[in-house]
Amino acid sequence: MIPVIRPWLGEEEAEAAADVVRSGWVAQGPRVASFEAAFADAFGAAHGVAVSSCTTALHLALHLLGIGPGDEVVVPSFSFIATANAARYVGATPVFADVDPMTGNLTPDTISAVVTPRTAAVVGVHQGGVPFDVDALEALCSRKDLALVHDSACAVGSTYRGVPVSAGASLAAWSFHPRKLLTTGEGGMLTTSNADWAARLRRLREHGMSVSAADRHASGGVKLEEYEEVGFNFRMTDIQAAIGLVQLAKLPEVIARRRELADRYHKMLAEIDGLRWVADPEYGTTNYQSFWVVLPDSYEGTVVDVLGALMSRGVSARRGIMASHLEPAYSWVDLPVTERLTKRSLILPLFHQMTESEQDTVVTELAEILR
Ligand SMILES: *Cc1c(COP(=O)(O)O)cnc(C)c1O
Repeated sequence: MIPVIRPWLGEEEAEAAADVVRSGWVAQGPRVASFEAAFADAFGAAHGVAVSSCTTALHLALHLLGIGPGDEVVVPSFSFIATANAARYVGATPVFADVDPMTGNLTPDTISAVVTPRTAAVVGVHQGGVPFDVDALEALCSRKDLALVHDSACAVGSTYRGVPVSAGASLAAWSFHPRKLLTTGEGGMLTTSNADWAARLRRLREHGMSVSAADRHASGGVKLEEYEEVGFNFRMTDIQAAIGLVQLAKLPEVIARRRELADRYHKMLAEIDGLRWVADPEYGTTNYQSFWVVLPDSYEGTVVDVLGALMSRGVSARRGIMASHLEPAYSWVDLPVTERLTKRSLILPLFHQMTESEQDTVVTELAEILR
């Protein structure tokens, strides 16, 4: 069976994790601090604050901004459900905006269509690794006095106008789940350009402690912490961070290989009439975290039909990006582009170790199914 994705993990990650275990300090400590610094440095951020997942990163970002009951947060429905859930965690109302059919991302027009006097923030998603138009969304948000949070869960290694996506962002949330390109098992990061925010985020992720457990340990003396506000336990462990440091060093190679395989897909898929596939927008590059295709209009079957047929031929694909507003947890609104993309797209296998012959199989089988 050709999997849809396979994390690229090896002996180096195993050794790094074992070293942490042998050191006797496994909770948030020096490796988390090193991983935060290396990650921030690699992606053009002033500060990195590691957390337990991208979901907790998004929750913390909205909490930090003071968003709560009575506030509306504009999010794409066309995203993993955690994006919308984050607004719910702080008691705010997620308001779904539609997306651009080519990128799958929010645009100034789709956001403007749903902004109200209660809108407090926008969570823009670089969906599947395809960057949204950062300058355009920033301009709109500053004009309307809205906070802009980047959901960069999928976008590690993507670029926007020649720099890493979300470089210099006031708040960006990242994921290290194995379905993403850099994994620590579970894990996430908030990057921010604001030093005061970084300091407060560090306290908030650790129960609101004024001095972290790791710093108290390292001080060698007696140091008592204070709890100035209610925080959370959203910490990452040093075991995860050690794995993350190894993964970070491998990332450029991962991105290069994914883009090479994606180019091959583009060339081969061009032979299937009416099929459309994800590609770079004019202002940036995607890391191809999800290589999605939209089925030809002429194909009368459903995505589930295609997924089933691929499965029986040894190819494990996935449905396309979900639409949160179609799930029972969220009320129904009218988002024609989102619905079309969700209902007519699927994600094809793409992983670092994928061979060209595996890729040929995927395309051959897909072409036959759609014929
Ligand atoms: C995966 C994902 C998340 C959640 O990330 P976790 O680290 O699993 O919590 C949030 N938003 C988007 C767009 C994602 O793809």
